Amino acid sequence: MMQREIKILDKNVADKIAAGEVVDRPVSIVKELVENAIDSGADNITVEMRDGGKSYLRVTDNGCGIDSDYIETAFQRHATSKISTATDLDSILTLGFRGEALASICAVSRVEVITKTADSKIGRRVIAESSEIRNNDPTGCPEGTTITVKDLFFNVPARRKFLASDGAESRRIVDLVSRFALAYPDIRFKLINGSRVVFNTSGKGNILENIIQIYGSDLGRDLIQVSGDQGNSHIRGFVSNPGMSLSSRSRQIFCVNGRIVSSPLIERALEKAYKERLFSGRFPIAFLFIAVPPESIDVNIHPTKKEIRFHDNAEIEDFITETVKKALTHKEAVPEVRHKADRPAPELSPLPEGRPQTEMTVEENGYQEEYDVINLLSTIRDKVSVQEEAASEYIRSAPQAEDVSKPFDFNTLSVIGVLFDTYILATDEHDFYMLDQHAAHERVFYEKLLHQFHSAEKYSQQLMVPLNFTVPADTVSTEDQWIGDVRNMGYDIEFFGNHTYIVREIPAFMDMSEAENFLTDILNQFADRPDLTDPSRLDKIITRSCKSAVKGGDHLTSEEITALMDQLKQCNNPYSCPHGRPTFVRMTKYEIEKMFKRV
Ligand code: ADP
Ligand code: MG
Repeated sequence: MMQREIKILDKNVADKIAAGEVVDRPVSIVKELVENAIDSGADNITVEMRDGGKSYLRVTDNGCGIDSDYIETAFQRHATSKISTATDLDSILTLGFRGEALASICAVSRVEVITKTADSKIGRRVIAESSEIRNNDPTGCPEGTTITVKDLFFNVPARRKFLASDGAESRRIVDLVSRFALAYPDIRFKLINGSRVVFNTSGKGNILENIIQIYGSDLGRDLIQVSGDQGNSHIRGFVSNPGMSLSSRSRQIFCVNGRIVSSPLIERALEKAYKERLFSGRFPIAFLFIAVPPESIDVNIHPTKKEIRFHDNAEIEDFITETVKKALTHKEAVPEVRHKADRPAPELSPLPEGRPQTEMTVEENGYQEEYDVINLLSTIRDKVSVQEEAASEYIRSAPQAEDVSKPFDFNTLSVIGVLFDTYILATDEHDFYMLDQHAAHERVFYEKLLHQFHSAEKYSQQLMVPLNFTVPADTVSTEDQWIGDVRNMGYDIEFFGNHTYIVREIPAFMDMSEAENFLTDILNQFADRPDLTDPSRLDKIITRSCKSAVKGGDHLTSEEITALMDQLKQCNNPYSCPHGRPTFVRMTKYEIEKMFKRV
């Protein structure tokens, strides 16, 4: 296109363009309105939407209200009561301060504001659309502010095209308001979609109660309490039982010093805590509330940045991993078997608009759109000092997880039988357990092997008749890359000529067939020239080879069962095989009674 005159844009057009930066879809309006409501000191906030928020959004709060003298000003760009000089920028205690939200919203929709301050006798009702004030009249109303936004983009049809389906837009809003409700447990949040109440939190500061309100009691039942203290840092929250996982990180919510953040560090710490408890590609659910000394973090104040930076990465990462790991040793963390009828059937289609689903089937059905609400949430600034204080205080006073559950104790188990020559049946006072003999054996084998590998002393047994191994040519040519590792595991192995190796000693804890299968598998893997400079590579090779070494479905004598249980008990992680399959599952007596309709 040829460029001709250069013109100053109409105010009307300029407003719409500027608005685009703040308002791109209904959820961003909700974000701005809820932030304003929080800034107004409200402890009761209701969000209503219709048609994914496209035709109707309303946010009602019981905060300080807007003074009638200033109400029209509030609609102007760069109008804010929150700062007045540039120096104020250094000490912002509110969520918003750019003074752009109301102006932007009313440039692209029809807005009604009904508001009353504590010291005025009567409220005010203002109607504005396309950046023009249409009405400004007195009205009777309670203290606080109600802002209704109708017909989003009625005057910018091109923008409407970019909106997703009503269902998708409403899910974004549900997700956003859910996070607000979790981050501000002292505020009562009510979310209404059409004629349905999606959730309604109590505002009493109880995190678990809020999680259950928002995500449902089904998810609540699978959560394990997390609690840890280290110096002036504190972690409280809930994580999922390893028996339940999702295909994405969509249900991981982290709150640091009262602010919802995204943090690869926290994600990594969680992943480490769940390592070997979940299959790769599966993610735990986590609601972690972390309080750290304010001077130990950098909070990004850039609007598009959402990450928080810890000054001592390794220390906080280890603290989180260890705290979550500890929670996963509790009895509640043993995967639980439940009677099917107990769980609501997953709704597959049409996708529900209300409560976010926690059933994995739905999740895998593509329900969860990757949408980064956190990006929106961690706006410019929080109530830095005030809120951090409150958050730390709140977290410190939360109950200790030790109060509520104890680490799992193998000594309480008594074996009552074996099923299909594969599953060891056991009970303790309350629960019934099934141990997968094969998975348990694999876990024991794996940990013994790693122990041997890393310790200076090797325990080997000499073979009466040495074993001969014929290997692929590639394995011979890369011998220097693997032979040291294999010897470190307790094998006495030497090249014999002609693609053949001779083995005179095997690790003491293996039997002949295990030693042979393990070595065959590992030598074949080395033929693929793995990159052994990657430390996790060797671990993967060992993990894989354990599987082929250990046989399942053998009949075990009662001595062998006792020995296996004993060895499992001594493992660092007795709860799963190295690939993430559970070694044992639990069924409560209550669950069994329910199955027989006794309760
Ligand atoms: P900002 O939040 O950045 O100051 P907004 O455009 O979001 O800018 O709001 C402009 C002003 O309107 C705010 O500074 C505040 O004084 C007032 N305001 C908006 N919403 C509310 C509300 N819910 N309660 C009280 N005052 C409000
Ligand atoms: Mg604002």
